[in-house]
Amino acid sequence: MAKLKLITFGCQANEADSEKIAGVLAQEGFELTETAEEADLILLNTCSIREKAEQKVYSLLGTFQKLKTQNPQLKIGLCGCLAQRDGVRLKDRFPYLDLVAGPGALIYRIPEILKGGTAYPVLPRPKEPLPLYVHSPRPRRGSTFKAWVSIMEGCNYFCTFCVVPYTRGPERSRPPEDILAEVQELLQQGYKEITLLGQTVNAYGKNLKPRTQFAHLLRAIDAVAGGEIRVRFTSSHPRDFTPDLIEAVAGLKSVCEHVHLPVQAGSDSVLRRMRRLYTREEYRAKVCALRRAVPDVALSTDLIVGFPGEREEDFQETLTLLQEVRFDSIYAFKYSPRPLTPAAAYPDQISEEIKTERLNILLRLQGEIALEQNRRRLGKIEEVLVEGGPNSKMGSSASGRTRRNQLVHFSQEFFVPGDTVFALITEAYSHYLKGKSP
Ligand code: SF4
Repeated sequence: MAKLKLITFGCQANEADSEKIAGVLAQEGFELTETAEEADLILLNTCSIREKAEQKVYSLLGTFQKLKTQNPQLKIGLCGCLAQRDGVRLKDRFPYLDLVAGPGALIYRIPEILKGGTAYPVLPRPKEPLPLYVHSPRPRRGSTFKAWVSIMEGCNYFCTFCVVPYTRGPERSRPPEDILAEVQELLQQGYKEITLLGQTVNAYGKNLKPRTQFAHLLRAIDAVAGGEIRVRFTSSHPRDFTPDLIEAVAGLKSVCEHVHLPVQAGSDSVLRRMRRLYTREEYRAKVCALRRAVPDVALSTDLIVGFPGEREEDFQETLTLLQEVRFDSIYAFKYSPRPLTPAAAYPDQISEEIKTERLNILLRLQGEIALEQNRRRLGKIEEVLVEGGPNSKMGSSASGRTRRNQLVHFSQEFFVPGDTVFALITEAYSHYLKGKSP
């Protein structure tokens, strides 16, 4: 069998895409390998959201070019958002590339590209409907108990810092019956947790005929799952976080008590310049409504510091938002200008030094808040899906995630990944909990 070395950068959508790529290429006789030296094909599934990931791709390409010099039969390709964004320009810059293919439906054209049928992604943005799961090669899933389920692709929001609408194209939702068939299959295979994926997952269904809503899809999945599996979803846009969705999260047994709701900034002036289409108060009102309906819900968010024009008082408003909302966890990043996006051309870019300083202040504050939030779990019994084995640094025999998506290390009993167990929480830290058998 031919060997495929597949390297994934960036978000969960890319991880899910890599599983699809591996599935598509398995049908062509490729099996995965960890070792680049023994590969016949090396694919980098790229991300263009942050500059750092992009630089890493270029540096790896240099390494793999050397391998290709030693082994001219080796094929090297770029997939994902960077491939879509730069398209044929990549071939000019890296002439030894054998394949450049964007994300989404273009994944299914990789075999055709490898056979020399089509060379590069069709620019601009991909608009094809997503292929039906029931007729597509199955993804080669990386886990036997947790699965990604892509329910939509693309985004119509055009936040001024984000390249996704240009690389993944406009919103396209999968028909509900196709998604339900995939969930049904996962249930039969014994999966314990699914995560519904979309760039704006809760905008699901707007382009379907008849139009449907994400909350309806959740209800249909819950009816199929019968509370037997955990259902998560990411990422939500606050604009689409409707009362109906809050009701679904509160009422459906399979839907976990964790919501990832990216806010990005705490200042209305920055939110306006980011084109996020909500105000700080509107965001807070949604969080209050969610917490009223699901008092135990865990909340996580994304934040950007140093967006162009962010004044000190704007940054202070982000800090006060953190103090008021008290997120359980955050993903915080320094703003990095991305090609194609309006904010990259804003004149009032912030220096790296200020960005770093603000990020450190933000992370310090969040560390204190997360510790306080986690201490509130002490003495509680949590349902944990075991994901990892023994960890000598933690002095634990296994680790896993609660329904609230908190990481728990166990110290007393031995469990295997995929087991669902109950843990009494005995210790709390900023980024994890420790527990034992109740
Ligand atoms: S909502 Fe904004 S940040 Fe999220 S994918 Fe769309 S454009 Fe990007």
